[in-house]
Amino acid sequence: MNPQSFRQTKIICTLGPASSTEETIRDLIQAGAETFRLNMSHASHDWVREVFSRVRRTAAALDRHIAILLDTQGPEIRTGDLSSNLTLKPGDILDFTVRGYKSVEVCSVDVNYEGLVDDISAGDIVLVDNGVIRLEVLSKDSNKIRCRVLTPGILKSRRHINLPGVRVNLPALTEKDKADITLGADLGVDFVALSFCREPADVITLREFLGSLDCPARIISKIEDQLAVKNLEGIIRESDAIMIARGDLGVECPMEELPIIQRRLIKRCIRIGKPVIVATHLLESMIENPIPTRAEITDVANAVFEQADAIMLSGETAAGRYPVECVRVMDRVARRIERSGGAGYAAEAHVDQVSKKTVRAAIVLANSLTNARILVFTRRGYIAACTSNLRAERAPTFAFSPEPGVCRFLALHWGIVPVALPFDKNPALTVEMAERALRDRNLVEKGDNLVVISDVLAAGGVYDSIQLRVVK
Ligand code: PGA
Ligand code: MN
Repeated sequence: MNPQSFRQTKIICTLGPASSTEETIRDLIQAGAETFRLNMSHASHDWVREVFSRVRRTAAALDRHIAILLDTQGPEIRTGDLSSNLTLKPGDILDFTVRGYKSVEVCSVDVNYEGLVDDISAGDIVLVDNGVIRLEVLSKDSNKIRCRVLTPGILKSRRHINLPGVRVNLPALTEKDKADITLGADLGVDFVALSFCREPADVITLREFLGSLDCPARIISKIEDQLAVKNLEGIIRESDAIMIARGDLGVECPMEELPIIQRRLIKRCIRIGKPVIVATHLLESMIENPIPTRAEITDVANAVFEQADAIMLSGETAAGRYPVECVRVMDRVARRIERSGGAGYAAEAHVDQVSKKTVRAAIVLANSLTNARILVFTRRGYIAACTSNLRAERAPTFAFSPEPGVCRFLALHWGIVPVALPFDKNPALTVEMAERALRDRNLVEKGDNLVVISDVLAAGGVYDSIQLRVVK
């Protein structure tokens, strides 16, 4: 089999009204989705319960390891309800109010966070609805923030507010987040995404909360504002994975910084050895159209070239008209770009531990062979994650684990094909079983070079080994 029948870049799909039937979930998996995201900014608990079991059922029927990611709403500031839309023109005065206050002399709208009046200062910029409406803070008192409109627009109910560069004192996990995560823990989600993660302590807060629920879900920290970018190194170290949340990031930071931040984040994650996801607007126009724009194709291609672990679809699959087609487009672009080579940032990856040095030696061997496949055996996923991190040139990595949860965790990792396999006490037998499992599933064929990273029993001890086997 040609190594390119395996795609290295993973695909994450957000589920929503456009994609929650069993049939569409099956089509998305068959088109190439490896992880499904449930966005708690929109989803109800009943819906989550239903869709969760649907995904697990469909994945089992297709014999695939599919991860489920619960994405929290996080400390998000929103405007309240308006009886009618407000048309804002340049120079208009608008009050953002708290504690139920209503301005009489000018237009006003309330916000869901009282502390806003403490966190903000005159001169700060307020962005509403994805940065479409831009206002400047003129003054404030205990009940309101008075602003002047700089960029006009129509203000509707319940719009998201961004405050570039302002330290917002909302807690890392709101009460809603805790209730949502508790549901996720109950169901057994594989990943929890921490929205608006600002510092390493936020990740620790979530980790402790998951611990209190006895939930083994891994943490994906979402980098969505300037503070997170500043605290990047520490956040990456505390997290299990990182999401470049370009939707908010593109509003919170000067837009021309976005491609630079994306590249820096990917490089840093690969260097430290944590999976990284590029999210938001990759195929935005496909919410309405059956084909992407040339710019979108190029954006997907760029994320693949940079060798991000995964690329993510949001509104495209949750609420768009062509959810399955979006996955097909990503799959097709990713395979083609992977064949043309990648940025190679893994050359800078930290190879500090002995097991990682062994992995690197195995990858050097695999890169020098034609039709190479790497086989790793992993109980907790660590050695497989190391293999993914060092980005083998062409060889796919089959990661065998007896733990279904580890297989699903690995479904998010670049270049990994997870395979569930019970381990024998004798590592040699486990390797035999693995090779047989690959042959039975037609994942390898005669003449393939298998580079096997495993324990071996020899002279009464257990040793790390790299073996080269040819499929007969
Ligand atoms: P969201 O996060 O879709 O939950 O806002 C992603 C982003 O901001 O890009
Ligand atoms: Mn966001």
